[in-house]
Amino acid sequence: MPYPEKKGIFPHKRIRKMTIKEAQEAVDQWIKEYGVRYFSELTNMACLTEEVGELARVIARTYGDQSFKKGEKPNLGEEMADVLWVLICLANQTGVDLTEELQKSFDKKTKRDSERHKNNPKLSEHQEDKEQDNKN
Ligand SMILES: [Mg+2]
Repeated sequence: MPYPEKKGIFPHKRIRKMTIKEAQEAVDQWIKEYGVRYFSELTNMACLTEEVGELARVIARTYGDQSFKKGEKPNLGEEMADVLWVLICLANQTGVDLTEELQKSFDKKTKRDSERHKNNPKLSEHQEDKEQDNKN
């Protein structure tokens, strides 16, 4: 769907780079301009679950054993963006700063898992399998 030809967030240029903070601000501006108001938190939670399901369907058909039905398309990026959009809506309406929370998540994972994955033989075995597959 083309972006509306109207005075708005990015009226004359396509998004090239955007920080998470800018994404939160842009979604907020879009909601105010075109969405009237945010759906309730519970509705958006249901929407997020729906979008995660749509993403799962594409992944099941692309990387899993399922095949695409007639008319379906491998729109992986579109479904990821849909998930991100609703997550940003939920963050905005609940006052969550995703930049700050992502930094905390990096800090937590680094502290907790800095050696854990390096010492997981399953990960290196899987990597060796992938490298072998690539050679064949
Ligand atoms: Mg979707």
